Amino acid sequence: MNTQPVRISTLLLVLNLSLVACATSQNTAVSPSAAETPASPSFSNQTTQNKPLVVTTVAPLTNIVSNIGGDRVMVQGIIPEGTDSHTFEPRPSDADVLSKANLILVNGLHLESPTEKLANASKLKETKIFEMGSNTITQSQWMFDFSFPKDKGDPNPHLWVNTKYAEAYAKLAAQQLTALDPSGKDYYETNLKNYLGRLEALDKATREVVTSIPPENRKLLTYHDSWAYWAREYGFDVIGAIQPSDFKEPSAQDVAKLVDQIKQVKVPAIFGSEVYPSKVEEQIALEAKVKTANTADDELPGEGSANAMENKNPEHTYIGMMVNNLRIIATNLGGKPELVDKVDTANVVGPTANANAKP
Ligand SMILES: [Zn+2]
Repeated sequence: MNTQPVRISTLLLVLNLSLVACATSQNTAVSPSAAETPASPSFSNQTTQNKPLVVTTVAPLTNIVSNIGGDRVMVQGIIPEGTDSHTFEPRPSDADVLSKANLILVNGLHLESPTEKLANASKLKETKIFEMGSNTITQSQWMFDFSFPKDKGDPNPHLWVNTKYAEAYAKLAAQQLTALDPSGKDYYETNLKNYLGRLEALDKATREVVTSIPPENRKLLTYHDSWAYWAREYGFDVIGAIQPSDFKEPSAQDVAKLVDQIKQVKVPAIFGSEVYPSKVEEQIALEAKVKTANTADDELPGEGSANAMENKNPEHTYIGMMVNNLRIIATNLGGKPELVDKVDTANVVGPTANANAKP
């Protein structure tokens, strides 16, 4: 008979394991409430929480998706903030993230082609790659312009800068998350309703700001060509973009042409970008004797995380970025920047959800 020694060793093993477990929980001091908080940014923690992993790309997309997904999913954006999303090459570690994804939400319109290629090669067979932009507008509504000329074939991909398209992205996120996690339908619908309320306030404020700018000043010349769909929506003219289609610096000839153009159309300011700091843009402003300031299209203002569940700064949001842009545009083109002060920039989920709530 050898059952007894086995029983004893099993008992010892169980005892041993429980001792290890005790030691572990003491060392890491995990309280029950801390264990429930899905605030850890580390990827290994996300998978252990057993929530679906939703991978996104640029910061505005990560922010919009995480506002709808809330605490039912883990959202991971793979294009770091402040990097050039147009030339971004995914790293080997991104292949690992993509291989664990349960849903991959990208902008599309050729913005993240290398990432989509890697996603197709690394993802699980059942994981869907969904292009938000391509499901928001049809190909006939694509815009080709200064840095995105038609002969190169890559349309201007900056749909989200137009708040109406950001609303469409939020609705698509809710739809895709519900398809992934049907029992969360009501939760996603509530988040969507709350978030759309904030986007509608942003849209309204945008129209008021535009109206406050003298009609002859409703013209944009920017370094990075990201305002095409915003301008079409809100009645602005994008008169040019400094950045050439290869995302390098423009030639001396192009610079001279731009200076002439600015003098001719008498625009009071031109706009740069912190993601693309350029001496050329400053030089053009100096030569054309106009003001210059920075706007942003995929870098959220201040410190924080694009993921709503990890973010503690109520301005570090997609809405915060657009409010900042509107302030800068209104200030430099003769409008009323204070018209955006009433817009709530906070996320509708996570630590900032009630940050700007009126008492
Ligand atoms: Zn861009």
